[in-house]
Amino acid sequence: MEFVETYRQLLQYKPETARSRVRKMALSFLSAGYRLSHSYAKIFSLPRIQFLYIHHIFQDEEKNLDRMLQALSVHHQFISYSDAVERILTGNIDKPYICISSDDGLKNNLSAAAVLNKFRVSGCFFVCPSIVGEKDPARIEAFARQRLHFPPVEFMTWEDIAELQRQGHEIGAHTLSHINVAGTPADQLEEEIGGCYDVIRQRCGSSDHFAYPYGRYSDFSGLGREITFRSGYRSCASAARGCHIVADGVKTNPADLLIRRDHIVLTWPLPHILYFIARNASAADVKNNYFPY
Ligand SMILES: [Zn+2]
Repeated sequence: MEFVETYRQLLQYKPETARSRVRKMALSFLSAGYRLSHSYAKIFSLPRIQFLYIHHIFQDEEKNLDRMLQALSVHHQFISYSDAVERILTGNIDKPYICISSDDGLKNNLSAAAVLNKFRVSGCFFVCPSIVGEKDPARIEAFARQRLHFPPVEFMTWEDIAELQRQGHEIGAHTLSHINVAGTPADQLEEEIGGCYDVIRQRCGSSDHFAYPYGRYSDFSGLGREITFRSGYRSCASAARGCHIVADGVKTNPADLLIRRDHIVLTWPLPHILYFIARNASAADVKNNYFPY
């Protein structure tokens, strides 16, 4: 089976729209203007935790991750996902921190890990057990198209995942089969969220972190939240932009915390990524730590 190996090939499947080109141009103006009127050194020195996550790192994106980590390491310290979560829960954010994660378990995430290793950064990889190690081309094609809106891509095996853990990375849960929590009946949710907890715990030793698919607030629900924490997870993540700050020493109940993560596509220009991160820091608010429902 032919898998997509480069970002160029992905663009043939998902061509850039006129709207996204205009957006990119506007962002270039905005980020350049913002940078002229703000000191990034000052903004980035704010003690906070900024979560960033990717989905894919195709061959032609590897150098971009390297460059991004290099740029962020000037003002930030990288921490593991578990460390980041505990710091928010215990009200202990003493420095500017960045935490990297990746969703969906594509095979090319192994290349992301190789770059993270070079910088001694521990990432968290959120996977869907139903597609781990899948070899059947028809099932891969259907999953990628229906669940990820993607062309056929290779997925990691359980051996790959064990190797990530040996390298010091963490494994998170992303539902059994990448469902939309808000649109799924209650009995199926128990299986998708709770069942995913059990599989990851059995395969990886622990299953502390959950990130729900699609990531908008409207893709999750109060019921999803209840099942998530009842299943045993210690954290739940969205894909809402923003960073986390705390009041020193003030503890948060794990079931009240909704992690915000900024989605990054590695081919985006680095100034755009830095702009998003600076904007988040400028708008930092403890209210960002909590579920909207
Ligand atoms: Zn996903």
